[in-house]
Amino acid sequence: MRLASFEPERLTPRAETLDIIQDKLRQREVLLAAGVPSPRALAIGKGVPSGLEFPLVVKSRFGGYDGKGTRYARTLEEFESHRGLWEQGGWLAEDFVPFRRELAVMVVRTPEATFAYPTVETVQSDHVCDLVYPCDADGAEIAIAAVEAIDGFGLFGIELFELPSGDILVNEIAPRPHNSGHLTIEACAVSQFEMQLRAVCGWPLGGTHLRQPAAMVNLLGDLWAAGEPRWASLLREEDATLHLYGKSSPRPGRKMGHVTVLAATAADAESRAHDVRRRLQRVGRDVVVGVAQGVRLIEDEDGEQDQEQDDRKAVLDREIGVEGQSVLLGAILRNEDAH
Ligand code: ADP
Repeated sequence: MRLASFEPERLTPRAETLDIIQDKLRQREVLLAAGVPSPRALAIGKGVPSGLEFPLVVKSRFGGYDGKGTRYARTLEEFESHRGLWEQGGWLAEDFVPFRRELAVMVVRTPEATFAYPTVETVQSDHVCDLVYPCDADGAEIAIAAVEAIDGFGLFGIELFELPSGDILVNEIAPRPHNSGHLTIEACAVSQFEMQLRAVCGWPLGGTHLRQPAAMVNLLGDLWAAGEPRWASLLREEDATLHLYGKSSPRPGRKMGHVTVLAATAADAESRAHDVRRRLQRVGRDVVVGVAQGVRLIEDEDGEQDQEQDDRKAVLDREIGVEGQSVLLGAILRNEDAH
């Protein structure tokens, strides 16, 4: 069903706004027509749309997320290798943007007021967002312009590309709370979720400013590779909050939850968020045994430790503690004695 054919009186965002957003090509056209910088995009028909040059990005116009409908086409050959996808119709090609960073801004807009949350950098890994933290760039102006261009009311997540020159382009608009806004739960007076309710209900909006430096790391299904993450390790952390989404199967790349860390400085928050996630990762048996053998080596070499051995020792300390190490070492020694 086309959303525009369904227009109850008080739908927020409006059906026409959603209708524009759900087609990535129409979204680009509307933004560019309103003078909001965004990559040039054209529909793919029988081949490379004329007027565009390589490198290009080809995208499904509808329904993609976490890069699932996005492919790079640096050359004609690469473009042709995606023929099986675009030949079916409903795909676009657009300029490849050689961005320096990806940014995002949450925007709330009602007939009375428009506010932007602080600009964040979104660091991606394999097209999936890995880390989010408030950064020194300011994407508020262009993000608000993008929401105005689609006549949007409610809460929106605006994904941006920052060029090496500092210029900013809009990548895409999400008409809802967004992964890049999760840290607002702990770091801002009014979270993105409460803000959406306030906007939709016509209530006063409250503040979008950052109360404390923060960083958010996503927990992808990969973290479950060697078993259930070690949730207990989080209990030792100050100012770290775990959010799990209740998904049952932890497939690699699937967003299962996130952790937000608050700290005195942005740099602290960022490095602690990485540490917290690293400690959650359960290490497989082979790694523990490998590390234990490393300890054995350390014992053998009479204090002559190299960096690699120090690292292995650190992992072992973290993973099984001193008591566990002596048990493991005892087992290895007994095993060797037996031969
Ligand atoms: P999705 O809706 O699946 O998240 P996006 O359009 O956001 O799709 O693309 C996913 C990722 O692909 C982006 O975060 C960015 O890293 C990369 N990307 C998308 N479009 C471009 C582009 N035009 N130029 C360069 N990289 C791009």
